[in-house]
Amino acid sequence: MYKLLDLVKNGVSPFHTVKRIREQLEKAGFLLFDFSQSNKKEQGYFIDLGSALFAFKVNQNWGKKEDSQQNHSVRIAAAHTDSPCFRLKPKAKIKNGKYLQANVEVYGGVIRSTWMDRPLSLAGRVSCKGQNAWQPQSYLFHPDKTLLTIPNLAIHLNPKANQGLEIHPQKELIPIYSTIEEQMKEIEISAIIAKELKKKEEEILDYELYVYNHEEAEIWGINQEFISGPRLDNLTSVQACISGLLDAKREDGLDMVALFDHEEIGSRTKQGANSAVLGNLLERIFEHFGLTRKDFLQAIAGNESFLLSVDTAHATHPNYGEKYDPTNPVYLNSGFACKLSSRQSYATDSMAIAIIESLCREKGISYQKYVNHSDIAGGGTLGVLASANLAMQAADIGLPMLAMHSARETIGAKDVLALTQFLTEFFS
Ligand SMILES: [Zn+2]
Repeated sequence: MYKLLDLVKNGVSPFHTVKRIREQLEKAGFLLFDFSQSNKKEQGYFIDLGSALFAFKVNQNWGKKEDSQQNHSVRIAAAHTDSPCFRLKPKAKIKNGKYLQANVEVYGGVIRSTWMDRPLSLAGRVSCKGQNAWQPQSYLFHPDKTLLTIPNLAIHLNPKANQGLEIHPQKELIPIYSTIEEQMKEIEISAIIAKELKKKEEEILDYELYVYNHEEAEIWGINQEFISGPRLDNLTSVQACISGLLDAKREDGLDMVALFDHEEIGSRTKQGANSAVLGNLLERIFEHFGLTRKDFLQAIAGNESFLLSVDTAHATHPNYGEKYDPTNPVYLNSGFACKLSSRQSYATDSMAIAIIESLCREKGISYQKYVNHSDIAGGGTLGVLASANLAMQAADIGLPMLAMHSARETIGAKDVLALTQFLTEFFS
């Protein structure tokens, strides 16, 4: 639980989530993988793509030719590092009377009203001048203090505020970051970045900065049974996958955690799940350890190989019961959720469920099945994209959640333990 709270506090952008996870991996003895060096089995490695990360363990019996399919099996748990938020535009300063505001665009499917009146901050990556044009230097930016807010309009000026409100991002979701003091130089955002990074303004070539909710996660409830906080979609899954990989041990196969970026905007980017990145890396790892392309294709098609896509699921909301499937309610603190859909917007099929069911029965781990209300399309996630690209057996699971994509989401504390325990079994 402590690790999740820490990750929420520090994983303020996909780049910072990768950094924090890297620190956890390094502490556990994992090394940065270098394709040009000879690498050992039974050693944990990671590949860092900035906002995406792939951590893996090559187990003792992996690649032994005489051995069974099991020895070549590949188990992958996948999650995403990004969360809905706002992204700072170039030339972001807006002068509005004596206010200075930041021009932002919406990133992913935010519940717009929940971002009003929150303490917001900025974090991400800044690209600066390097040795030459082809080698720019990248720096993480995270001042870790509240820098902006998007104030609501007072109810006295907007009597319909409680009757459903349309919120237009370019008008109503522009945060304030300063006021202009007379005789004082106006504050350029690039100047704020330069000061924080101790760089000259002209050294900054570009940035990918996100406006994020600067609140921390909190445990609450009469029995402290809930957790609320920002970015729980999908940092809960990121942490469970990594904890599972670190806690488990098996003799056979290759175990990997794939943390993709850009799930919230469709995954179709070079470091997203709907790309060649995972397949390419796996194939190169096979080759690196002396196996062939045929071995790779056989392994991922094998019955013992599995891609587990871990992302949050909709828990039944007590005030909106009509939005959920009538016979399959999913409750907080009743176990993690396994997601199914006849449209295959989730990758799960009955063979995959049979495996999950068996593992859960053996270890007494609780889980629930989630299906959409038939009149509501529900959401999608990366499971079906990654597994279709690899043609690999897969399932979609994750923590039940209320208020998905709110600036502050709610989950059950017990479910965090169930999910982590399941991920440990998955890699055992
Ligand atoms: Zn998600």
